[in-house]
Amino acid sequence: MNGQLFPNFIAGSWVTNNDAKANINPSDLNDTIGHYAQASGAQTNEAIECAATAFSKWRDTSPLVRFEALDKIGSEILARVDELGDMLSREEGKTLSEATAEAHRAGHLFKYFAAEAYRATGEMYQSLREGVSLNVLREPIGVIGVITPWNFPQAIPAWKIAPALAYGNTVVFKPAELVPGSAWLLSDIIARAGLPEGVFNLVMGTGAEVGEVIVSHPKVSGVTFTGSTPVGRKIGASLFARGAKMQLEMGGKNPLIILDDANLDLAVHCAIQGSFFSTGQRCTASSRLIVTDGIYENFVDRMSEAMKELRVGDARAPDTQIGPVASEAQLEINKSYVSQAEVDGATLASRSGQIDVKSPGYYFAPTLFTEVSPQSAIARDEIFGPIAAVFRVPDFDAALETANDADFGLSSGIVTQDAVKIDYFTRNAEAGMVQVNLPTAGMDFHAPFTGRKGSSYGAPEKGSLCREFFTAAKVVHKGRG
Ligand code: NAD
Repeated sequence: MNGQLFPNFIAGSWVTNNDAKANINPSDLNDTIGHYAQASGAQTNEAIECAATAFSKWRDTSPLVRFEALDKIGSEILARVDELGDMLSREEGKTLSEATAEAHRAGHLFKYFAAEAYRATGEMYQSLREGVSLNVLREPIGVIGVITPWNFPQAIPAWKIAPALAYGNTVVFKPAELVPGSAWLLSDIIARAGLPEGVFNLVMGTGAEVGEVIVSHPKVSGVTFTGSTPVGRKIGASLFARGAKMQLEMGGKNPLIILDDANLDLAVHCAIQGSFFSTGQRCTASSRLIVTDGIYENFVDRMSEAMKELRVGDARAPDTQIGPVASEAQLEINKSYVSQAEVDGATLASRSGQIDVKSPGYYFAPTLFTEVSPQSAIARDEIFGPIAAVFRVPDFDAALETANDADFGLSSGIVTQDAVKIDYFTRNAEAGMVQVNLPTAGMDFHAPFTGRKGSSYGAPEKGSLCREFFTAAKVVHKGRG
């Protein structure tokens, strides 16, 4: 076996077994980053049992203790952003600048939730009965299963693990199979923050084995999941059946509307950034560009020209703008959607398909289709690659109707200077997040993150609203004894 073996972190110790998985760089398939232990079902059960035992003490720690631990984690992440960014870029294929920015965000998320430990307050009501006090307490819920996807392997774990710990819960963290390096580095930093044994556990492995043990274990009180809609719905059904709490962030098929009066440079910037950066592998990527008649020809021409300039290459090379696709499976999905789009009669307005660069990797050209039928697969399915579809519409009303005609409702964007239309769009977009004159991807890290329809279920993530998932209310009436 080439490369180091990275263990799991269970019940306060680093543990391994005979099963390990190689982590391969998608920019260079000859580069093996390391081997990562795959937790067994028994090890996952042990992590959950230990987290359940640790909960009885951790829940009652002073907010100061939780603040100090999370603040320390945040500080160490920020001190090591270059190392974390390099790992993220190497294993996932995001460019170095995107990856380093994500590591930075992960550090600040821990800092934000460190302070949130102080703000974990309840509410006081005036009772309707004299001599009775009435308070609503907020209590941590117990062991939280954290199940995360591969596309934001540092920020998403940070915005789930940090609030879980801040509010007094304990954690069993299962990262996505493709990105164990980021998860391991984060866990190493968390493990050195002085948390009591069992408060935080890392169990790397597959969804079918480790993930399902977490979802079905009676001592896991809630699962915060980010991933695809089919997997989210499947685990949601199991969690509901046993009465566990859930917070599900799932897929997207995000529209960007471009109206006749839009600043064309800004529209092209938003479309290129939203559709193709991070190789289109963002749940908030703009995969549907909805353009009104008056600006349509100019927009498609300018977009096609701008796409020719995009530099696809090794994620860690300084001049790369678009890194490789994260995996062979995702590369095959992209290819099959391109073939299907051609069968469905869409027009290819750019180059497309797998491309060669210096190293052997999963490189795929940013791809633009026009004349897309609204019912075709590229119009409706989340592809999760650098593939965008342009729709021509007569006016704003048709644009809004097209934007809302989707099974998802994560982020919805518009480029226009018309304040009245901006206001109408903001109120009528069927999405959890609205972006005006901005790309559909890229949200402030301290604000809530949420979607509608097939994109989200349960309380929002991040910001103060996530407290709804990570705590449970207890209503206390107290009379005189
Ligand atoms: P995925 O659904 O395949 O996997 C997500 C996680 O679930 C992984 O850790 C996986 O191992 C685990 N899993 C799979 N099957 C499981 C099971 N039966 N039981 C328990 N766990 C299981 O998603 P992915 O391919 O890793 O990530 C891409 C998806 O994530 C896209 O759909 C994207 O839109 C979505 N995503 C959503 C958001 C958001 O906030 N809405 C953010 C990022 C990514």
